Amino acid sequence: MKNLNFIALIPFWIIEGLMAVFTAWLIKKGSKIKTPKEAWKVLFLLSMMAQMFISVVLYLYFPSALPEIILLGNFVMMAEIFALGVMYFLGEPKTLDEIIGGVVRLRSIIIALIIALVLLSDVFTAWSLALVGGMASVAGGLQEVFTTLTYSSSSFWFIFMMSSEMAITVFFIRERLPKALIWLVAAQTIIMILSPTAVANSTWASISLAAGNAVMTFLFIYIFRFLQKNQMLSRVILNYLIFLMMTYALMMAGQFIWLLSGNAAVFALSIAVEMLMYLGIVLDEKTLVSSQLVSWQSMLYWVFGFLFLIFIIEFFMGGIVTIQVFGQGFFNGILTAATTWPLTRILSAGFYIGTMAIFTAWLIKKGSEIKTLIDTGIVLFLLSMMATIFVSTVIYAYAQASITLLELVTVNIAVDGLTAFAIIFSSYKKNEGAVWNKLGNIKPILIGLIIALVILSEVFMGWTFALLGGTISISGSLQGIYSSLIHSSSSFWFIFMMSSEMAITLFFIRNKLPKAFIMIMASQTVIMILSPTAIASAFWTNFSLAAGSAIMILLFIYVFEFLYKNRVIRSGILNYLLFLMMAYALMMVGQFIWLLSGNSAVFVLSIIVEMAVYFGIAVDERKLDSSKSANWQSKPYWVLGFLGFLFIAEFFMGAVLNIQAYGTGFFSSIIVPTSGSFWQTIGTSFYNFIIFFGTVTLSPWYLIMMGIEMGALVAFRIKYTRELETKVMFALMILAYGLYTILVPVFILPAEVLRQTPWLGWTMGIGSSGALGPTVLLALLGTFLISGILSFLFGSRQLCSVICMAPLMYQGTTIDAMRSFNGTSQIARKLLTNKISAFYKVAASAVWISLLVAGVISYLTSVGILNFSIFGIDPAFFLYIFYFGFLWYVLWMLIPFVGTYACVSTGMCGWGSFNQCVSRVGLFRLKVTDKATCSRCPTMDCAYVCPTGLTDLPSEFIAKGEYRNYKCIGCGNCVSACPYQIMSFYDVRHWLREKLRFESDNSALRKKESQPY
Ligand code: SF4
Ligand code: SF4
Ligand code: SF4
Repeated sequence: MKNLNFIALIPFWIIEGLMAVFTAWLIKKGSKIKTPKEAWKVLFLLSMMAQMFISVVLYLYFPSALPEIILLGNFVMMAEIFALGVMYFLGEPKTLDEIIGGVVRLRSIIIALIIALVLLSDVFTAWSLALVGGMASVAGGLQEVFTTLTYSSSSFWFIFMMSSEMAITVFFIRERLPKALIWLVAAQTIIMILSPTAVANSTWASISLAAGNAVMTFLFIYIFRFLQKNQMLSRVILNYLIFLMMTYALMMAGQFIWLLSGNAAVFALSIAVEMLMYLGIVLDEKTLVSSQLVSWQSMLYWVFGFLFLIFIIEFFMGGIVTIQVFGQGFFNGILTAATTWPLTRILSAGFYIGTMAIFTAWLIKKGSEIKTLIDTGIVLFLLSMMATIFVSTVIYAYAQASITLLELVTVNIAVDGLTAFAIIFSSYKKNEGAVWNKLGNIKPILIGLIIALVILSEVFMGWTFALLGGTISISGSLQGIYSSLIHSSSSFWFIFMMSSEMAITLFFIRNKLPKAFIMIMASQTVIMILSPTAIASAFWTNFSLAAGSAIMILLFIYVFEFLYKNRVIRSGILNYLLFLMMAYALMMVGQFIWLLSGNSAVFVLSIIVEMAVYFGIAVDERKLDSSKSANWQSKPYWVLGFLGFLFIAEFFMGAVLNIQAYGTGFFSSIIVPTSGSFWQTIGTSFYNFIIFFGTVTLSPWYLIMMGIEMGALVAFRIKYTRELETKVMFALMILAYGLYTILVPVFILPAEVLRQTPWLGWTMGIGSSGALGPTVLLALLGTFLISGILSFLFGSRQLCSVICMAPLMYQGTTIDAMRSFNGTSQIARKLLTNKISAFYKVAASAVWISLLVAGVISYLTSVGILNFSIFGIDPAFFLYIFYFGFLWYVLWMLIPFVGTYACVSTGMCGWGSFNQCVSRVGLFRLKVTDKATCSRCPTMDCAYVCPTGLTDLPSEFIAKGEYRNYKCIGCGNCVSACPYQIMSFYDVRHWLREKLRFESDNSALRKKESQPY
């Protein structure tokens, strides 16, 4: 393509402009056609125009065939005139609608003809002008002809003429269109003008892409508002909107491909489709209002299609912006992975996979509808048939030398025959009447069989396709077979097919599931798609790990909130949730191992477990409703399992994200090789375990992830909380976590400075997260002093309910609801007393002694008097990791047995016990405004909700009107719970107010006394 010379092109602009006006006028005429004669006139003029430009293009390619081209043109014209003659001869009916008794919608045919001719003449006008204007060459090969056609149809020759035509047409017919439609078609026109391929200039490309995307976004907002205001719309408008979205999806995909590879074919196609849409509306605008009115909200498929297409558009828009910002190289990783296969093979594999996925999903749906033994037999027969096909294909691929196809087919037939025989036998035994509900013990076996067969056939299907696709080699050794199996089961062959099946199954059985389950299972499907092993590309790994983790966190939040709102649920649901957490724990362990060593065996196992959980519910969703109801708050082992698996999943998710962010070196340097005597090995292993554990739990990404999850639960709690002070405290808690646990230590202070900063490294260590050097000592004492003063003035809640990260982990809705175990667990009941338990005394003393000893050793080492470390790590730092990075989380998981806030009730937190001591002698306390109300109180709610087990509040309130306790951390649960709302916090602010009021009362009194009577 040559450079633009605007002056030289002026004659061509004029021709194009005239053509645009003329065509727009013809379209206007076309939109008002009433009689066949009018139709003929429009069609005749349009075909003349099209024919003229087609002839020019033909002539330019075949100059020697001029006489034939003219002859052909004349022949077409003669035929059209002859048609007119016939029409007159037969006698012209009054209107179009009266022709052929309404059997054929002649009107639609005429409209389609007009559209086709307009498109044809426009494409050829642009083509011929591009050739005549010398902007494209007349090269003879089919490929070159295609390239020139694509160029002229995606360049300004076509685009500006088309958009002018669109603008003029809207102007001509503006009166007849509904107002909203004028906006829509006007926006379409602008988007068409802003085609990035129109002018071969990088500035134009950048401007048009940015402006075009902006207009499109506004258009979507407009459409959303339009839909919001018009619940009832005509079917044609709804069709128009969905086709418009489809066109824009194609257009965005076209722009993306053009930016990546320079190929504008898809984009040109999208323009043609858009024109088609546009003309369809302006030529037949009457049907917009005349067709049947429907509520779009009742058309679920329409809504789904609409949203899905918007997603596709935004997806490619995102891709386009990414290319604009980061350049083409950004997507190179994916391109190499995807283009190793020719398109035809990808398409045919996609077709097979799609078909198999739909078929399997349908079989699972059938499985979920089983009523009799015969039904079960049919499903099992079809599944086993599918499984044997793929199993035997794989066997054949590996053992071609020792097995013939005939033998394989025989085995297949034998297996299928056997299954068929089993069905016939069960029917013969009159078992067809054995209904599902009465199958008793066989039921789990049958469900297990269905799931096993589904997974078996999927694994072997993935293996077959990977073998046929050549992505794995046929190696005869056992190790080779195992690697191939693991590879195919962790690659897109298996994963994308499985996730398609999950999505289709969910679609099939959606009406049978409770709404919450649809959300959970849909998230499962998305998490499955986002398996990092699916595509061997760095981009996919990064993207899928980040997006998969994000979805999983959202899912966990959703499940937590579900449990909070549904305390009594079916045991089938509880089991499902537990197994789901187990599958995700395994999955994250698998991802961690895969990232560290490249071995995806555990990950594959986790996928299979997840599939079993998913299809277990899909096949037997009835048990969600039929199983016994139970309150999860009365099931400590269930809660322990749930929290434990959840923790493992989150722990390894944090580890995986840290590897992604900081490389595998993040872990490899911390582990000490085990050697020496038995006890040395035990010691080293213990050290390695604690260091690995703490490195993850104290790492940035783990804390960010936990912060999002637990912070969301606290945010829900704000929503449910009544009084402002507690709401503010919860908000401060989230803010403090963000600032104090993540932003400052992770993103602002470098590690070395952080270790020297006592205020940030206090948590359960001696006061710093590094060695206790002379410079740190002074700052450490300052930290104790500041924190002590704050606890004296505001109570230990400044720490245990705001600044520490622990309250965020305890105060969220569902975790707070686990407070119920404080009263039901025997251990918790012993720990959660109003007094200080014996256990507390021993534990707190042991903790403080260990901290002081470690602190002294650390100090002496740092000043050179001693030389002691634990495998090179400062003992004070090691204790910090042990208490805060390990023990604290163990206590958190043990909530059903030790209760909430075990860090307070066990005395295992040195920093907490120091602040609680100061708080006890400080100004903080709880007060009631009316002691008498407490003495009559029938509920004593304040005593039941305390997470640290303080139950003597009512008696203290009745006796003194206030409450102080060493273990009161000022969480505010009691204040919120009091049904009479007579409780409040008391701290330095109230103390000062009292003092000042006292002073002013005294001075008023003095003033009064000094006045003469
Ligand atoms: S006791 Fe320690 S860990 Fe628990 S909330 Fe208080 S400061 Fe945090
Ligand atoms: S719930 Fe309220 S009224 Fe009842 S004892 Fe507690 S503070 Fe008093
Ligand atoms: S007494 Fe009230 S404020 Fe104190 S810890 Fe218990 S519930 Fe929280």
